[in-house]
Amino acid sequence: MDSNIKQMKHFIVGPVEMYPCSKAIYQKGYSYFRTEEFGNMVKKNLTRLSNLIGNKNENSLIYLTASGTAVMEATIENCVDENDKCLVINGGTFGKRFCELLEHHGKNYTSINLEFGEQLTFGHLADYNNKNYSMLFVNLHETSNGQLYDINLLSDFCKRNNMMLIVDAISTFLADEFDMAKFGIDVTIISSQKGLCISPGLSFISLSQRVIDKIKKAPKSNTRYFDFKDCLINIERGQTPYTPAVMIMYELDAILDYIEISGGKEKWLEKIKTKCDYFRKNIKDLGLKFPTSYNLSNMLTPVICDDVKASQVVKLLRDKYGLCVNPCGGALADKMFRVSHIGNTTIEDIDILLDKMSVIINKLKNEELVYDRK
Ligand SMILES: *Cc1c(COP(=O)(O)O)cnc(C)c1O
Repeated sequence: MDSNIKQMKHFIVGPVEMYPCSKAIYQKGYSYFRTEEFGNMVKKNLTRLSNLIGNKNENSLIYLTASGTAVMEATIENCVDENDKCLVINGGTFGKRFCELLEHHGKNYTSINLEFGEQLTFGHLADYNNKNYSMLFVNLHETSNGQLYDINLLSDFCKRNNMMLIVDAISTFLADEFDMAKFGIDVTIISSQKGLCISPGLSFISLSQRVIDKIKKAPKSNTRYFDFKDCLINIERGQTPYTPAVMIMYELDAILDYIEISGGKEKWLEKIKTKCDYFRKNIKDLGLKFPTSYNLSNMLTPVICDDVKASQVVKLLRDKYGLCVNPCGGALADKMFRVSHIGNTTIEDIDILLDKMSVIINKLKNEELVYDRK
């Protein structure tokens, strides 16, 4: 095995540092998935996961062996019909992805486009009141820049306009407060490799009763492999139409046990918030900033680099110290990088990261000075 890989410490949004409990399952046995035993294990864990999501309806949570984007696409294919008028909150890479997917499938949609640094407010939504929109798509935490949208605002708007609310909660679930029923959310999308801290490969779709009714009433689905109607029938027995990522389902079993014995969801969120607050306080002391013009998720901190190139910091942290953080894309690449607070990392790990960030930034600043003088 490449020894460099072993030494990497991940402060990225996913896949994150895994907990020993979910790695340990690979030393144990597993069942053939077309058995009652496996089906029962799946049902038990989907019920536990549903409770964490805040959807108490039985058999309302289905899952696919696919990354989050596949499930965003499958949701569009299964839940949007030719009568729907969709509104998309497009505040970054993931909002844009919803637009591209709706476009690709020829759906009727409009997007609310936010500039970088612009917080979503009621003013943005007001223009779309009483305009017969039927669905709203949002990535509740826009992972590309860290903005956490106001779910109260979106939920009220959808209720007033009788719209279905479709939430990609991939990077907010198990990092921030989230409750599907409380906010009248119709579809919640989550993925294994983010808040759940397990391997990438499984994505979950939690459905409200009215969206289940819509799916069941629809004629033929446009997709065979990702047919939700088929998934809903199979899940009653804890089954999937096709072979799932069996081992990741065991990882889920292990991590849900671990969350429970660690004190449950509130404690889990507290632990992440503690890491997040600690990091933010300390980067201020280093003279670094994070965005303050919009609300941030506790899942990650975007770090603004005024004096040095953010892309350089990311590269040096990784190459010199085996510390892996997320670069930003596009126009933000040299201005900002992102540090995730989910996964099996400790305050001591954060101290090491802060120390190395400080070393690299000071070194880069000095090089800049030398360069300026030439
Ligand atoms: C990670 C993420 C996804 C999923 O991306 P994949 O690469 O397809 O797993 C989708 N939406 C958001 C907001 C994300 O953070």
